[in-house]
This record gives sequence, structure tokens and C-alpha cells, in this order.
Amino acid sequence: MIYLGSTRVLTQDFGSHKYAEDYAGDHKSIVKMNGQGKVIQVINRFKSHEDSINYQTFLNNQSRWKDGNIYHCVSITGKQVDMSYDELGGNQIVIETYTNEGTLLTFRLAHLDQVLVHNGDFVDEGTILGYQGNTGLVLSSKATSNETYGSHVHLEIRNQDGTPLNPRSYATGEIKTTYKKQSNELSKDKDQFKVIVDNINIRQEPNTTSNILGMVYMNEVYTILETVKSSEYTWYKITTGRGVTGYVASKIGGQWVELMLKNEEIKPDPEVPDEVIDPTYELLFTCKKTGTYYVKLVENEQLYIKKNK
Ligand SMILES: [Zn+2]
Repeated sequence: MIYLGSTRVLTQDFGSHKYAEDYAGDHKSIVKMNGQGKVIQVINRFKSHEDSINYQTFLNNQSRWKDGNIYHCVSITGKQVDMSYDELGGNQIVIETYTNEGTLLTFRLAHLDQVLVHNGDFVDEGTILGYQGNTGLVLSSKATSNETYGSHVHLEIRNQDGTPLNPRSYATGEIKTTYKKQSNELSKDKDQFKVIVDNINIRQEPNTTSNILGMVYMNEVYTILETVKSSEYTWYKITTGRGVTGYVASKIGGQWVELMLKNEEIKPDPEVPDEVIDPTYELLFTCKKTGTYYVKLVENEQLYIKKNK
């Protein structure tokens, strides 16, 4: 059986692991996925063996582990390692992907020796995601002096509600996942927005409690089909390139998206003004058409606008 692109054996099944499965093969062997996806998160700062946490140390202090806390632990080589709860997975990758029916799934692969992909990368069966390793918290009966101590791939798959699914058939390649480019084409004839934060959920309805259908990411462009305002958010209805229709929120006053509206042309005044009252003041543009203008400033930059007399 092929688990994640390499010959591995199942070392912990979904029944006993509860929310994932573990597959062990050769230490530092390549890891691939059986399908397509987009990398949405990467942690890649640990060294296999050196930054593998001693399991007994973890068990002794387990009650103190809390989300968001940094914990000082002892690695299997006796080295002091600082780790937060979500780094127990060591070097890891989170991938957004979809079933053939279009249902959102997130894959999390953990304990890698090294991650070879970057946030935002599109990956498929040909992509080497990284190498199997033992970073983070791993359990093994092997001697602590053995550098392959606990080396395995942890695969966790969650649906849009965050519910863990049995990952087996995805690990063996029995079920393959898909991913299509979802950003729309840039167009001057359409009202569009560009995402200027890391990511925003796509919701089925314009409210924060409706189903999550996927996410939009930094620098992606979408055509606005409809605008719905609420007290806290402006919701933009979109259809992605993979055919999902839903609503993306921009927090009012929060600057989550940059609007690119077809009727709002932002043109700097081509004429240099004849009269400059104060050399430290500069006329930036002459308003030719009433509308809302967006001005991007960099740190410490100041904006002066000349007043009408
Ligand atoms: Zn695991």
C-alpha cells in the first residue's frame, strides 16, 4: 500500500489516534500527496532528532500544556526546546483541498524533517512536500540515541466544520483530491476587490455563523456580484474560479480588501501646479469627478491636501 507517495506502514490508526493516522517509513524519505491542493500554512524551523520532544517529559507536564503558551521542554538529546502547543507537530504543512464533490478539506502533515514547499504554493502528486521526520512530539520504542526515533508522518484531515475524518483512503491514494485556481481574472470593466490580508473565509450566507465554503487568500482578485452591508462587515458575493459562490467579509474600518471599482478612476493630476504656497506642501491631485478615493501611505509618510480658497 502507498501512503502519501512512499511505502510506509500504518503505526497508529484512526480508531486509536482519534483524529489522525500515523504512517512510518524510512526516516527522511519523500512525502507527497495523492491529489491537488494549495499550501496555506507552513512551520519549518525544527531539526529532526534534536528538536524531537522527549515523550516522558511531555507526559509528566501534560496537565500544564495550554493553547498559546510557550513551553520549555527537553528534547530527546537533552537539549532545551521552546515550543508552543501548536508546534507539537514540529515541522508541518497545512493544505487546502477539495473532494470531487467540492467539499472543503484541510490536510495537516506533521513531524516532517524538512518542509520543501511555501505558503501559497499549488501542489499535486508530483510535488515533494518534504521529508519524513521526527520533529515535535513523537512517540517510539526506539532508543533516544537513534536519530530515527519516532520518525513518521502524521496525517490529519478535517472538513469545513473542523471535524476530523479518517484519512486512510486519502493516504493510500484510493481517493484523490482536487484544487483549481480560484482567483478571478483582473478586469477594468468589473467591480472587483483584491484581498490584502492573509485569508478570509468564504461563507454560504452573508453572516459569520453560516457554513464555510473555503477561503480567499492574499493578492487574489474577485469580481463583486453583490454587496451586503451589516453593522460590522461589508459582505461581497463572489464566484470563484473553482465554481464556488459565497460571501467574503471585509470588516468595516479593518481594511481586509482593496476595492477596484470600474467607475472610480484614480488619476493623478498630470499638470504641475503653477503656484506652490509652501514648499513643504504639495498638491497631490485635482478631483475631476466626485467619488471615494483610496490613498495608500507608507510608514511615516504624511498626506497634505491643498484647500480651496
Ligand atoms: Zn499522529
